[in-house]
Amino acid sequence: MEELIQKVVELINQSRKVIVFTGAGVSTESGIPDFRSPGGIWQKYDPEDFYYQKFISSEESREKYWQMSREFYEPLKNAQPNAAHKAVVELEKMGKLDCVITQNIDNLHQRAGNSPEKVIELHGTAISVSCLSCRKKYTREEIQARLLKGVRVPKCDECGGILKPDTVSFGQSMPPKETAESFQRARNCDLLIVIGSSLVVQPAASIPLEAKDHGAKLVIINRDPTYHDSYADVVIHGSAGEVMKKILEKMK
Ligand SMILES: [Zn+2]
Repeated sequence: MEELIQKVVELINQSRKVIVFTGAGVSTESGIPDFRSPGGIWQKYDPEDFYYQKFISSEESREKYWQMSREFYEPLKNAQPNAAHKAVVELEKMGKLDCVITQNIDNLHQRAGNSPEKVIELHGTAISVSCLSCRKKYTREEIQARLLKGVRVPKCDECGGILKPDTVSFGQSMPPKETAESFQRARNCDLLIVIGSSLVVQPAASIPLEAKDHGAKLVIINRDPTYHDSYADVVIHGSAGEVMKKILEKMK
């Protein structure tokens, strides 16, 4: 392990443009449940109800969605950034960080102290809600207050339209601007570090490979093996927070 950590430190030292790519493993270490893991939210709710097409076409699906969302938002709101988030902030302070590309929706990179313009959210964000008709934006906090008061399906107070959190739902494609920017930055970085992603969800999972194919070094830090471990220059199987903390300590 020590040797692998030393290798990553050397790769960071040799790089000017580092991209950090984060997935659910970083959020779970802050206590946010992983949507896709066994025992997760889908034991209790049927994912069929949360497909975008169903959400926009059925009031009943929207009601189930908001019931789930009301519950899920509480641990998310109360979560605190962990050692992995803090390490990424350190990389920005050192002037090494090109950007963070995240599959997470919890705003924890920004809350840890990364500049918002450095964070590319591939799956949107859970901290705001938009009207699908007039695009009026609300904070998730404001909508949560309505839900907690007993509103079952919140509606836009401007136009009565359907409100939806600004997250990318099942059946919805990734946002084109963020996706294009991620691939473009991946082609131009020197080093891409994957933290806490099993690199399963496409097309996001192709971004690290895009970097590698264009000459960058690739590091994967994840609890479990990923499909792309064989492409990486360094693979460390361990906790995102613990590993990143050790890397940063060695850099100082
Ligand atoms: Zn509206």
